Amino acid sequence: MTKKQKKTLKRIIISAVLYLAIILASKLVAIPWYLELVLFLVPYFIIGHDVLRKAVLGIVHGEVFDENFLMAVATVGALCLGEFSESVAVMLFYQIGELFQSYAVGKSRKSISDLMDIRPDSANLETADGTVSTVDPDDVPIGSVLVVRPGEKVPIDGEVISGESTLNTAALTGESKPRFVHPGSEIISGCVNGDGLLKLRTTKLYGESTVAKILDMVENSSLKKARAENFITKFAHYYTPAVCIGALVLAILPPLVLGGGWLTWISRALTFLVISCPCALVISIPLSFFGGIGGASRCGILIKGGNYLEALANTSIAVFDKTGTLTKGVFAVSQVSPANGCTEKELLEQAALAESFSSHPISKSLREACGELDARRATDAQEIAGHGVRTMVDGHVVLAGNARMMDDSKITYTKNTGTGTVVYVARDGQFLGSVLIADEVKEHSKQAIAALKAQGVRTIMLTGDSEAVASEISGQLGLDEYHAQLLPADKVNRVEELLATKGKNDILTFAGDGINDAPVLMRADVGIAMGAMGSDAAIEAADVVLMDDDPAKISLAMKISRKCMSIVYQNIVFALAVKTIFLLLGALGIANMWWAVFADVGVMILAVLNAMRMLIVEKN
Ligand code: ADP
Ligand code: MG
Repeated sequence: MTKKQKKTLKRIIISAVLYLAIILASKLVAIPWYLELVLFLVPYFIIGHDVLRKAVLGIVHGEVFDENFLMAVATVGALCLGEFSESVAVMLFYQIGELFQSYAVGKSRKSISDLMDIRPDSANLETADGTVSTVDPDDVPIGSVLVVRPGEKVPIDGEVISGESTLNTAALTGESKPRFVHPGSEIISGCVNGDGLLKLRTTKLYGESTVAKILDMVENSSLKKARAENFITKFAHYYTPAVCIGALVLAILPPLVLGGGWLTWISRALTFLVISCPCALVISIPLSFFGGIGGASRCGILIKGGNYLEALANTSIAVFDKTGTLTKGVFAVSQVSPANGCTEKELLEQAALAESFSSHPISKSLREACGELDARRATDAQEIAGHGVRTMVDGHVVLAGNARMMDDSKITYTKNTGTGTVVYVARDGQFLGSVLIADEVKEHSKQAIAALKAQGVRTIMLTGDSEAVASEISGQLGLDEYHAQLLPADKVNRVEELLATKGKNDILTFAGDGINDAPVLMRADVGIAMGAMGSDAAIEAADVVLMDDDPAKISLAMKISRKCMSIVYQNIVFALAVKTIFLLLGALGIANMWWAVFADVGVMILAVLNAMRMLIVEKN
C-alpha cells in the first residue's frame, strides 16, 4: 500500500469506529437531534473532507458533474433531511470503494512495472586505458565496450567480443529459456547475464535498444484506447449530467403534481444520485484492458494498445509470412552443386561474400556456413527484395538469389530440383552453381495453426519462396491456404484483397519478421512481429510483438483478448442492469440509502474484482 492509501485506511477506520460508537450511544441514551448532528459531523468530515473539497474545486473549475459532486450533494442533502447516519455511511462506503479501487489499479500497475524491471540502472563502460566506470546507459556512444558481470542485466544491444555465458531471457519472453552466447553473438538488452563475464561492443544507443523500445511501447499502450473505453468515457460525459437532471426532476415534479410530500421526494432524489454514480464502469473498463496488456506482457506478448487487444478477439483470418515466422529462419546447407568448373568451396565462398551485407535469414545462414571471410572483398551490395542480392565481389558482379533473379538477368542455369530453398549463384553473367538450403519449421508452428483453426480462424501463408517449399511446409503445418513466389508488393496486394472480402467486424492479423514484409505488417488490422528475430522495422510497424518469436503465442493473445472482452461486457451489462433496477426502485421509494450504497460501492467492487481477473493468465 502507498502512503496515501494507508492514510485513507486510517481515516476509514477512525471514522467507522466513531460512527459505530455514535450509533450505539444513540441507542442507549436519548440524544437530541442537534447534538446527534454535531456528533455525526465529526466522522463525516474526517472521512469526507477531500470529497467535499474536490466537489467545490470541480464547481469552481466548471467541471461540475463528477462523482465527487454526486457524493457531496447526496450526503449534504441527506444531512439536511436529518438522515445523518445514512449520510456518513454513504461517504464511508464510497471511500472504502475508492481505496479498494486505487489498490487494484496499483496492483495491475505493478505487474507492468515488474516488466519494467528490465530497465538497466547503469552500464559498466570500459575506457581506452582499460578502466571500467559506471555510467548512465543514455550516455554510452555506439561502438563502446561494456562489461556485463554475472547476474547483471544487459543494458544495451550489442555483440559479444569476449567471454561466454548463458543469458536468461525470462523478463522479455516470460519463459526462462537460457541462451548460450559466445564471441560474435548478438545480444539484446533486457536479458540477465548468467555466470560468465561478458564484454560487448554496443551496436545501438540506449534509446534505440530493445529495452528502451519495449518500455516505450508499454508506457504508451494506454494512449491507444479501445472502442469500449472510449464508449465509457463518452457515456459518463452525458450520463452524469443526465442523472443529475433526473434527480432534480424527481425532487420537484412529483411534489408539485401531488401537492406536497417534498421531503420524501427530495430524499428519493438523493438516493437516486448515489445509485447513479458511474464509478464501476469508469474504473473497471480501463482496468480490464490495463490488466490484459499487463498479463499478456508477462507471457512475452507486447500489445501496443487497448484497441489491438480489443481487435484480436474478432480475428477471423490469420496470415503468416513463412521464413522466420513459421520456420526458424535458420537454414542449413544441405547440398552444394557447383557448375562451369567452379569448386564447392569457391561457390559457397562467393555466395557468402555476396550476402555480406544483408540481414535476410538466408544471408545469415550462408555466412555462418562459410565461416570467417574478409568482408572487405565485397562492395556495392544491392538487395533486391524477393529475389536476392547483387554484390561486387573482388571486382566482379556476383548474383545470389532465386530462379526469378536468374531469369531476370538472362542467365543460363541448371535447375535444382531438391527439396528446400535454392540459392543460385552467378558471376559476371556466368552461372557458378546452386546451393540448396533447408529451413526447419518452428517447434510450435503446427500447434499454433491447429489452435487457430480450432478457434475458427482461417490460416494463410504468404511466401516469396518457391511453390515446392511452400506446399511442403503448408502440408506439414496443416494450413488452410498458401500463396508462393510472392514479391513484397504481391504480399501487400494479397492482404488488400483479403481485407476487401472479409466481413466488417472481422479482423485480419498478419504475423511476420519484418524482413521484406514491414508494409504488410502496417496494412493488416493487427500486425504481429517476431520480436527476437525480427528487424527493428518490424517491431516499429507492428501492433503486437511476440518476444520469443513463438507463433503459438498468437492464439494465446487471442484468448487473452476474448477473456478481456468478456469481462468488459460482463461489467458493462452487470453495472448498467443493477443501476437501472435500483434507479427505478429508488425513484419509487422502495430502495433507500442503504440499497444505494450497494448499488454504487458494491457494484464497483464486484466490477473491479472481475476486472482484476485479467491479471491471471494461464501460460500455455
Ligand atoms: P519469405 O516470404 O519466405 O519470408 P522473402 O520474401 O524474404 O521470403 O524472400 C523470398 C525469396 O527471395 C527467398 O525464398 C529467396 O529465394 C529470395 N531471396 C530473398 N532475399 C534473398 C537473399 N538475401 N539471398 C538469397 N535469396 C534471397
Ligand atoms: Mg520474410
